[in-house]
Amino acid sequence: MGRLLIIGCGGVASVAIHKCCQNSDTFTEICIASRTKSKCDALKEKLEGTTKTVITTAQVDADNVEELKALINSYKPQAVLNVALPYQDLTIMDACLACGVDYIDTANYEPEDTDDPEWRAIYEKRCKDEGFTAYFDYSWQWAYKERFEKAGLTALLGTGFDPGVTSVFSAYALKHYFDEIETIDILDCNGGDHGYPFATNFNPEINLREVSANGSYWENGHWVETKPMEIKRVYDFPQVGEKDMYLLHHEEIESLAKNIPGVKRIRFFMTFGQSYLTHMKCLENVGMLSTSPINFEGKEIVPIQFLKALLPDPASLGPRTVGKTNIGCIYTGTKDGKKKTIYIYNVCDHQECYREVGSQAISYTTGVPAMIGTALVMDKVWKKPGVFNVEEFDPDSYMDMLNRYGLPWVVDENPQIVE
Ligand code: NDP
Repeated sequence: MGRLLIIGCGGVASVAIHKCCQNSDTFTEICIASRTKSKCDALKEKLEGTTKTVITTAQVDADNVEELKALINSYKPQAVLNVALPYQDLTIMDACLACGVDYIDTANYEPEDTDDPEWRAIYEKRCKDEGFTAYFDYSWQWAYKERFEKAGLTALLGTGFDPGVTSVFSAYALKHYFDEIETIDILDCNGGDHGYPFATNFNPEINLREVSANGSYWENGHWVETKPMEIKRVYDFPQVGEKDMYLLHHEEIESLAKNIPGVKRIRFFMTFGQSYLTHMKCLENVGMLSTSPINFEGKEIVPIQFLKALLPDPASLGPRTVGKTNIGCIYTGTKDGKKKTIYIYNVCDHQECYREVGSQAISYTTGVPAMIGTALVMDKVWKKPGVFNVEEFDPDSYMDMLNRYGLPWVVDENPQIVE
């Protein structure tokens, strides 16, 4: 039983909110707060009458700590679920600390302005020290650990699908299948088709920044960086079929390298069709992926933000996307002195998601785990002071809830491996 403040009302938030409303025993009251209040009001109107959860809405600029504090102090939630953008992670964490409430999110901190000299100096030092150049990393949020510990509050980081479910799969594999995990391959396959020549499945700005960046993987205690899309493999995904997939840098590699003892290699692969890659390369070549403001006819615009305004809203892809996603992890390691390999994965059907909550499977596979992680914190199953990634908690309740709330998983003990 509790009261939750949800910040953001986009694609992922919409699913998380639908799922909170299916779990009214835990979420007795929710407040949906975002930059554009009309979106929150529209969702409230859609859900009221279908749930026992009491829904209110509010307007908030989550870049502004004082506004956030005022909202938290007036609504008095037990926890805040941040499903806005990674740009707001730190301001929302600051407000949670100031007001004494728990914090949950689905993506690690990334600055909106990567030309900010103060951020840039720290970033460039990190690139040199750590050996990967992604704009996002966990250091900013892990730095809050002591403050959350002292305040007796929990911050749960990265409870989407990847990171999130893939991290919980890793804790589950370690607990039930291995004495030691040697390698982890995270495979993210979207076999869906929305019929547009080019669109992104979640926030275009965040998505295109991630995909156009250098790739990297963790091996023998350090990062190995690759050029974007340099490493390609073909994999035959259960219920989807054969797809090209490319090695990317991804945030859960960083936390799993820290939290899975003895792991020797962690890689992340995502599938892309040739049309997506050709469009992205072209947009990059003409400067449309740039995050640096330019002056256009007397007005300052950021090219990637302008591009976002042109592309289909990911939340609108639901009715037109058909096909399935398959996301999971292949683990190799040892149990009782014997080598073994397992593959844990979930298959999700875009149209089934749309029928249930009005969203495509990418928002669904992120929004469901956002609700689950939040429920475990609110119900005090995953409650300890500090800042944690999901794999640092016991995975069993989370795995049960995935089955109950629409993301059933499979363990294959004889999978195809990735060379
Ligand atoms: P959307 O762009 O669809 O939604 C973002 C929402 O945040 C919008 O409602 C937007 O408001 C709101 N917002 C943005 N800035 C502010 C602000 N300053 N103050 C208040 N509200 C604000 O994004 P998605 O739903 O696709 O993604 C949400 C999060 O989920 C992102 O952090 C993304 O990285 C993460 N994610 C995680 C995944 C995982 O597996 N772990 C996978 C996919 C996404 P407005 O409507 O006014 O624009």
